[in-house]
Amino acid sequence: MTVKEEKILQTYFGYESFRPGQQETIDHILNLNNTLAVMPTGGGKSLCYQIPGLSMDGTAIIISPLISLMKDQVDALHSLGIPATYINSSLTPAEQQTRLQDVAAKRYKFVYVAPERFESSYFINVIKSIPLSLVAFDEAHCISQWGHDFRPSYRSIVPNLKKLSNIPVFVALTATATEEVITDIQNLLHIDHLINTGFKRENLSFHIVKGKDKASYIRSFLEEHRDESGIIYTATRKQADALHDQLSKRGVTVAKYHAGLSENERKESQSAFIHDEKAVMIATNAFGMGIDKSNVRYVIHYAMPMNIESYYQEAGRAGRDGEPSDCILLFSPQDIQLQKFLIEQSLMDDASKQGEYRKLQAMINYCHTHSCLTTFILDYFNNTISKDICKQCSNCVERQEKADITEEAQMILSCVKRMGERFGVGMTAKVLKGSKDKKVKEFRLDRVSTYGILSAYTEKELTEWIHFLIAEQLLATEEGKFPTLKLNQKSIEVLKGKLPVWMYTAPMPASEDADYHES
Ligand code: ADP
Repeated sequence: MTVKEEKILQTYFGYESFRPGQQETIDHILNLNNTLAVMPTGGGKSLCYQIPGLSMDGTAIIISPLISLMKDQVDALHSLGIPATYINSSLTPAEQQTRLQDVAAKRYKFVYVAPERFESSYFINVIKSIPLSLVAFDEAHCISQWGHDFRPSYRSIVPNLKKLSNIPVFVALTATATEEVITDIQNLLHIDHLINTGFKRENLSFHIVKGKDKASYIRSFLEEHRDESGIIYTATRKQADALHDQLSKRGVTVAKYHAGLSENERKESQSAFIHDEKAVMIATNAFGMGIDKSNVRYVIHYAMPMNIESYYQEAGRAGRDGEPSDCILLFSPQDIQLQKFLIEQSLMDDASKQGEYRKLQAMINYCHTHSCLTTFILDYFNNTISKDICKQCSNCVERQEKADITEEAQMILSCVKRMGERFGVGMTAKVLKGSKDKKVKEFRLDRVSTYGILSAYTEKELTEWIHFLIAEQLLATEEGKFPTLKLNQKSIEVLKGKLPVWMYTAPMPASEDADYHES
């Protein structure tokens, strides 16, 4: 880092020192190396392009899908005396025209634009005609079809950018990227340099809550967190409407947001939440992209979302100010059926559906693992930077007692084998229980030797155990609408008695929800 950049940090932005990854990213950009920066939400990605943009000649173009954030970014730069503007569909054509003329007159150091802008040849001609310092892609994961928020308009920018010979350097920034997405971004934008600080958020505590009545859990949670701001995500609009009605009837003031509301209603609702007039927002995943509210103390998922990418992004809207915050997922087995239904009725082709089922399985595993939840998420993203357990998620805190369930696990695994590895979780639980279900008889599964071998347990408990074995990779599952259970190498080791199986159990008072049988 040169003295100049440090000076900009202190004099313009008033910060003492750089956060992890900022200095390296800035250095790369100043050396005109195309760079991808992966940093957690709230990690300070904006400064990574703002400081080089200030110290280099020319105008910086920042491409962002978050129209609602552009104004805030530009206002923040104005308050620091830096000439900046944004051009997007929220402006009238006349306003857009005026701003473009000012861009052409080289009046700005920073210009924020939505990806669609690159479809206009007029815009392309304007930026072709002026000296540029850099082009930044915010939320760069949107460029990748492997990302959970793929935007075709982002992808189609690439050929248009090739027409511009006056771009000295690209920088791409994101907070959520799997290995696949990272590689995709690097290939598409010809980026050789990667700064990956990981995206662990130390201030977030993850919790899984099971076996509770969701609505009453939320009511008592809100009682205890009256003055705190939080978001409750539901899986469908219907759920959002129902929960909103229920809480409103009980006199709790809550805002609501989903794509079924009019634009006006959504705007009002969002504004009431952002300005702390309503502390709680009940919303579908339509809410959030571009919401920069720093004091969100909790994010509750009323139902399990479709994949870990969306979960981490939505949950990550808590605690942007760095203060301790909670991310709570209320799980019930029906959530799995709902998500499968949503995948099935989507317009995706079969290959994409298969990919979604694979991601859904990882989400289901998250809800059933007994390992540290934070580590589980970071592992999912191959984020190997810090592997220490977090000591603050519900698995680290609540499940302190260990029980040896090797024998039960062996019974489950041998049942899977005897059923010919052709059935899924539900049917296997029925056979272990010794259920009189018609289907069990139809498939003659009441004749296998393991029929009823664990009849002392409920089907619900057995289902949980099977999910646990899958989550801990002691049992494999095929992807698809009706995933069948298969033995893997570890299953064989368990069956041979070479690998013991331990399960964390909740301490006594918390076991009232009977999630796990304690042996
Ligand atoms: P991101 O885009 O990565 O989510 P932002 O760029 O919005 O994060 O930055 C989050 C907050 O951190 C902002 O308020 C920003 O001003 C502040 N910030 C950024 N860099 C630093 C730094 N080096 N020291 C202190 N605060 C910083």
